[in-house]
Amino acid sequence: MTEFTHDILVAGGGIAGLTAAAAFGQAGFSVLCVDPAPPVTEREAQGADLRTTAFLQPAQAMLARAGLWGRLAPHAMPLQTMRIMDISGEMEKSRVRRDFDAADISDQPFGWNLPNWLLRREMAARVEEMPNVTFRPGVAATGLFTRTGEARVRLSDGDEARVRLVIAADGRNSPMRQAAGIGARTLRFGQKALAFAVTHPIPHENVSTEIHLKGGPFTLVPLPDHAGKPSSAVVWMEEGREALRLRDLPTEALEATMSARSAWLLGPLSLASQITLWPIISRVADRFAGERLALVAEAAHVVPPIGAQGLNMSLADLAALLELAEARPEGLGDPAMLAAYDRKRALDVRMRVAGVSMLNGVSMLGGQPFGALRARGIEALHGVAPVRRGLMRLGLGAGNAPRP
Ligand SMILES: Cc1cc2nc3c(=O)[nH]c(=O)nc-3n(C[C@H](O)[C@H](O)[C@H](O)COP(=O)(O)OP(=O)(O)OC[C@H]3O[C@@H](n4cnc5c(N)ncnc54)[C@H](O)[C@@H]3O)c2cc1C
Repeated sequence: MTEFTHDILVAGGGIAGLTAAAAFGQAGFSVLCVDPAPPVTEREAQGADLRTTAFLQPAQAMLARAGLWGRLAPHAMPLQTMRIMDISGEMEKSRVRRDFDAADISDQPFGWNLPNWLLRREMAARVEEMPNVTFRPGVAATGLFTRTGEARVRLSDGDEARVRLVIAADGRNSPMRQAAGIGARTLRFGQKALAFAVTHPIPHENVSTEIHLKGGPFTLVPLPDHAGKPSSAVVWMEEGREALRLRDLPTEALEATMSARSAWLLGPLSLASQITLWPIISRVADRFAGERLALVAEAAHVVPPIGAQGLNMSLADLAALLELAEARPEGLGDPAMLAAYDRKRALDVRMRVAGVSMLNGVSMLGGQPFGALRARGIEALHGVAPVRRGLMRLGLGAGNAPRP
């Protein structure tokens, strides 16, 4: 009989990997999680992930199930209103502006926003206190060998893990996906996203705002006050060379440019962090499972950062996998479980990747008549009442059928 070292190996200790480790640990499975890069858990430290993640309602439920929400809630900023604007029109009245209020569909906010570096700090601390979960930062998964009854994963420190299930949460280039010979389709947009934090004189009132102009959206997401001033996280998508030019501007010139780009909605913006740069692609794996292997998060799907879909889809992957594991623990990682996982996620993931890619394509269009087309596209996607309610419900995972 096979001697397993653990039930599960999670490759990757990013936000998705650490959530997987905590969730499966909480459900009683023994878990080993490895990641070659130790988590950077301070805002000002070199290499800190300065993005923030807006967790929508179902993702919050998953974090609660993993025993993580109690630690995260004190740092979370509720998102009550989502505002979409197109500011290409020259006259105020020719601009498109739509507000979606969470109160229209539930008594909860749309979601909660948290900085990624803080998520890693709290998640690493949580798995540290779980007796059946081992997190080994500084160690990579370097090789995968599977057969019907087990997976063997070679580790960079010379060890080998023998497990029933490998969860690949090892990012967009997923070494585990490649080791399993699973391909992926990629769509390149030629854009990059600048991510940083700002402070501003006008309070954000818990409104998350996506401002569209050619090149891509400029998104302001509420954060708790910083240095005694209202603060927001910014994700600013632009054509690649323009993004590099913006990153290299002197601070004063950058602040003037970003304030104008935000249409001065919150007054003049002041840079309040380092800037990080992220290439924008869409990618979907050809399938989401292989022998003894489940792909989750960016190992399975990557989308442009529009509508807070990326990590929320990832937590939906974990919720589906956990449900299957708990329904039949003795079948953990067997072909029936993994085929069911692939079936459960395929349609939802492909629909969302296609939808967000289309929205990004529309958002990038520049110049007249494309500005007008973009405005009409955005209005069509967000403006018509049933479509709008459908999108809101989709975002909240409340089902796909729009209410009449
Ligand atoms: C600018 C920006 C803003 C975003 N905002 C949002 C948002 O508001 N809401 C949202 O839902 N999503 C958002 N996303 C998407 C979200 O950030 C990503 O989906 C998420 O960070 C990806 O998490 P991950 O754990 O899959 O990948 P990663 O964070 O890349 O983690 C992968 C981990 O795997 C490790 N690894 C690599 N190789 C190995 C190996 N051989 N063995 C073991 N480990 C390995 C890496 O070191 C890394 O730590 C945003 C994305 C961008 C670019």
